Amino acid sequence: MEITIIHKQDNIIHFLVEGVDVAFANALRRTMLTRLPAMAIDEVLVLENTSVMYDEMLAHRLGLIPLITDLESYNLPEECDCEGKGCSLCQCTLTLEEETGDEERIVYSHDLSSQDPKVVPASGDIPLVKLAPNQRLIIEAYARLGKGVENAKFQPVSTVSYKYVPIVEVNKENCNQCGDCVDVCPKNILLIDGDTISTQNTLDCSLCEACVEVCEPGAITIDSKKDAFLFKVESTGALSPEEIVEKSSELLKERIRLALDYANSL
Ligand SMILES: [Zn+2]
Repeated sequence: MEITIIHKQDNIIHFLVEGVDVAFANALRRTMLTRLPAMAIDEVLVLENTSVMYDEMLAHRLGLIPLITDLESYNLPEECDCEGKGCSLCQCTLTLEEETGDEERIVYSHDLSSQDPKVVPASGDIPLVKLAPNQRLIIEAYARLGKGVENAKFQPVSTVSYKYVPIVEVNKENCNQCGDCVDVCPKNILLIDGDTISTQNTLDCSLCEACVEVCEPGAITIDSKKDAFLFKVESTGALSPEEIVEKSSELLKERIRLALDYANSL
């Protein structure tokens, strides 16, 4: 298996995986979604809430805030020595204490203060609740590691998708250079240069085949490689996109090894 990074920007990474089949590509996608741990608020203690929002709704909103995750410093509760009761190795406390005077105010995720400076909201601009004048909020929240298979709030990825690598071929003998394919292509893959049709940025092709439909029969063929996939991964901010790809590949390798060991023991 070979991985080539095509493009990376902030929380989004595009990469090419070669030498694998579709089952492996899908297993990698599902590992990123459901098996890779991330931190999220899981228990909330509402000490005071005079806002219009119900405690349950507030707890739900707190749970959905992506928290920056440090996989090295925290254990999964089921793997911790405390047996999931909650200790400093598997749990982080965040507090929120807000009170309004004469003016209303919106409470944002950056108002949460964390016991561990490394475990903070990935974005401070998430609105939680609007407080009217003279309202008060005192909350203690406990974050822990969890997996997407348990609850979607633990997913470190907001998008993970893959597509086949397109192969676009123009047959010069069947092409009459009408240029219709250039106009119809939504991704601007085709261009007309004098009396020849050429291709550019073919990785952007969405395999819609609009060019094939509008063209002379046999002039353009769209195919795809069977052993290469283009991935797009967008992180929630909990982990870096590189970390997501690296850790999920390791997890998948480990799960395959365990499955093989089990199959051999039968
Ligand atoms: Zn523990």
